[in-house]
Amino acid sequence: MSDKTRKIKIGSLTIGGGSPIAVQSMSATQTQDLEATAQQIEVLQAAGADVIRIAVDSEQDVEALRILRAKYPDPVFSVDLQENFKLAPIVAPLVDKIRYNPGHLYHLDKDKTIREKVQFIVDAAKANDCAIRIGVNCGSVDPDYKSRFPDDSVSAMVQSALDHCTMMDEMGFVNYCVSLKDSSAEKVIEGNKRFSQARPDVPLHLGVTEAGLPPEGIIKTCIAFEQLISQGIGDTIRVSLTLPNEDKGQEITVGREILKDISEGRFRSVPENFSEKLNIIACPSCSRVENDKFVELAQDVRKMTEYAERHKLTIAVMGCRVNGPGETDEADLGLWCGPTRVNLKKGTETLGSYSYDEILGQLKKEVDLIINEKFGAPDSAIGA
Ligand code: SF4
Repeated sequence: MSDKTRKIKIGSLTIGGGSPIAVQSMSATQTQDLEATAQQIEVLQAAGADVIRIAVDSEQDVEALRILRAKYPDPVFSVDLQENFKLAPIVAPLVDKIRYNPGHLYHLDKDKTIREKVQFIVDAAKANDCAIRIGVNCGSVDPDYKSRFPDDSVSAMVQSALDHCTMMDEMGFVNYCVSLKDSSAEKVIEGNKRFSQARPDVPLHLGVTEAGLPPEGIIKTCIAFEQLISQGIGDTIRVSLTLPNEDKGQEITVGREILKDISEGRFRSVPENFSEKLNIIACPSCSRVENDKFVELAQDVRKMTEYAERHKLTIAVMGCRVNGPGETDEADLGLWCGPTRVNLKKGTETLGSYSYDEILGQLKKEVDLIINEKFGAPDSAIGA
């Protein structure tokens, strides 16, 4: 925790200014599936989540959230506006915090400026005593910043966050925090260090996005949190793990274990050459997942690629068409899931789309090809 950040109020919870680091998670269900989302809230509550985030992308989602809020008046709720900033005024009365992604503001109302859209969200937050999180994500950074910093995704992310903070300051709104996330622990460390140096007053929400399956997802998160929290950077955390919905409480228990270890000076040693080996990135899944087979697919990808473990390759497995195409661009091979088919990419190039039954075989062919291209000699297990 940082003593330098200002305190912000998220419903009954306070973060920043030396408050205990809050541990949060997000519902991975379709918000309109009331039974599944209620179960997810209960799983996260039982695990001791300080904040539970729920995604909304439509007025129907907001109606579902209204019913859920009536059923669960106590938890501190955060809402993820995804691409629809226009929902802010109707969703703000139901929640304690609004998260928006600066990289998603350009989708709607193209005639309005980014500043006007931010003002719209700020007005909704002010009127309902909500906090705001400016949630910047390296994989979906605002296209303007991408073109300003074409070869430097960390600078694009940090500058976008700083500019949105300036807008909030100029609008006289102080109840906000910031997150700067990436699937690479190194970029999370660099981005958050740079941001915190520039804006030591702004509370930070830490997370490695798409960290993937345990145990690798936990290791990546640990690397980032140990480096940042031990330097006094970070006021709230989320551990993003690819887990079946019923196990999502692990995001909270793992988060608390990491915090306890850091506070007691127990740093987990990172396995030697961890970042030199096969790296599977997988998103933690959310309400946007269109086929429940996604988590199983991520698990199968890891199992199938075990034979290639010693090769420095990145394979990204993403749950949806919204963030999947962009967030797989930097991986050697990327998969993003649609309702019935899985799209396979090599870097930014799309190779094709395959059924859930076909995709693993196709992926294996591509892994073998890349190992040949990148490392020359075929792996002993190629073709096995
Ligand atoms: S990639 Fe899609 S499904 Fe996965 S967490 Fe991101 S928005 Fe949700």
